Amino acid sequence: MATWRKLRRDDPYYKGWSEYREATREAYRGMKRLGAFLGAAIVLLMLNEKFQPVPTAVAGLVAAVLSALGSRMLGEAAATSKDTLELPCPRCGLPFLRGPAGENGFARRCLNCGLPKWAPRDPDT
Ligand SMILES: [Zn+2]
Repeated sequence: MATWRKLRRDDPYYKGWSEYREATREAYRGMKRLGAFLGAAIVLLMLNEKFQPVPTAVAGLVAAVLSALGSRMLGEAAATSKDTLELPCPRCGLPFLRGPAGENGFARRCLNCGLPKWAPRDPDT
């Protein structure tokens, strides 16, 4: 069993894993932004329901704008998340999370060549 250690710049797969990590972190950031937006929108709607500080027409317009913005953010987060399934494996170059049998966003090994995630070099050599 392989032991974990931090990747180093001189590792053969350092560049591939760095690109993989940056792309997946961007997907996580999109999901966090969407969650924060949804939380803020829910609080705003609850406050408006309780205190009704603006006329109903204005509140309806704000709700419509928030709905459109939320739909757009959801679409972007879903597309970014889906794009992570296409990120290439540093060893074989095929999608790490998509193999001949399907896709698995939580795979710990490449679904095409079996390279363990974050392996600094080819474990078979
Ligand atoms: Zn692979």
